[in-house]
Amino acid sequence: MKQAFLRKGKEDSLNRFHPWIFSGAIHHFSEQPEEGEVVEVYASTPNENGKDWDFKYIATGHFQIGSIMIRILSFSGEEIDEDFYKRKIAVALDVRKAIGVCQETGGDKECQNNTFRLIHGEGDNLPGLVVDVYGKTAVLQAHSVGMHTDRMMVAKAIKEVMGDKIENIYYKSETTLPFKADLGQENGFLIGGDKDDIAVENGLRFHVDWLKGQKTGFFVDQRENRALLQKFAKDRRVLNMFCYTGGFSFYAMRGGANLVHSVDSSQKAIDLTNSNVELNFPGDPRHKAFAQDAFKFLDEMKKGEYDLIILDPPAFAKHKDAVKNAMKGYSRLNQKAFEKIQSGGILFTFSCSQVITKDAFRTAVFTAAAHARRNVRILYQLHQPADHPINIYHPEGEYLKGLVLYVE
Ligand code: SAH
Repeated sequence: MKQAFLRKGKEDSLNRFHPWIFSGAIHHFSEQPEEGEVVEVYASTPNENGKDWDFKYIATGHFQIGSIMIRILSFSGEEIDEDFYKRKIAVALDVRKAIGVCQETGGDKECQNNTFRLIHGEGDNLPGLVVDVYGKTAVLQAHSVGMHTDRMMVAKAIKEVMGDKIENIYYKSETTLPFKADLGQENGFLIGGDKDDIAVENGLRFHVDWLKGQKTGFFVDQRENRALLQKFAKDRRVLNMFCYTGGFSFYAMRGGANLVHSVDSSQKAIDLTNSNVELNFPGDPRHKAFAQDAFKFLDEMKKGEYDLIILDPPAFAKHKDAVKNAMKGYSRLNQKAFEKIQSGGILFTFSCSQVITKDAFRTAVFTAAAHARRNVRILYQLHQPADHPINIYHPEGEYLKGLVLYVE
């Protein structure tokens, strides 16, 4: 196996089990690895005579050209084979059993939840890999070249661990891999080929477009926050902004909302939302969907038209250098909602940008409230659910944050 040798002192973060090695930390390779290849990492220490170096094994990981050059899979010299993935997936499944999201996996008609995240990248010690389960289908997404290379091994390991609970494994990485690596990856089934599944979440049903939809087809990470919203919905007029599949809207309808308006700039998302209305509340006149830009919609709507508003925008910042503009974006968006929401209204507001910290997001919302001159109380502070766990050594894994606010 090819070896990577670190510069002196660059092993500190690995001693703290951080799973990334940046390009600047690497002194040299025994031989230039291919992208996606598994390499062994060695720390360099000067030996007693002070001239030569000693090398100590420290980790094994996937090599990739870029700022994060090695993503660590093991700190104990394990071989990275199908058995390795089986062990990791078995632990991940055990976690999901412990938190109670997947006892009913299998997609029978009575089941209340058949949808959960099985593998959450670094959070499950498998950097670069995301796997969501929808009934009998697992959707596998590679965010690193290494996971792309290993996809068939991963698929087989999932099938072994999950048994007949999983019949189809769909690979969906066309948009998540570095295009420079020129992998020519195509979306498609690795195992099985049944396109029929419907996600069931807390008893609500959703068409999942894992063939073309965003992420793995559905935003699994809002399950608990949607359930909380239901409790606030009775007799309210609800605006679900950035609705995508309409997730929050159906919880609001089930919670007894008077009317629910779903807005998304994508016509495809609106079509998906409308088809999900037909699945859950066929012909219910309380729901309407609008394909429109959020900022425009908020500008044009009347003051006091809604008394429960959800703002769940896409990540405004994907990189650190975009943080400043993203902060402005969150402030501007939230300010518009604060200006228009009915007195006594409830605002559910979110950020899924990993580079915007919880505190920074709170500051953006604070700024918005102050500009709108509204009296605002924080009722709940929300986050990603337990099937999107955060590796304690990788705080960067915390990405979803939200606030539930009472606006006087
Ligand atoms: N709330 C959703 C997830 C939202 S994802 C859920 O619970 O599943 C973000 C959505 O914002 C996407 O569907 C995207 O099409 C939409 N979007 C992006 N920019 C927008 C804009 N300027 N105005 C309205 N919608 C937008």
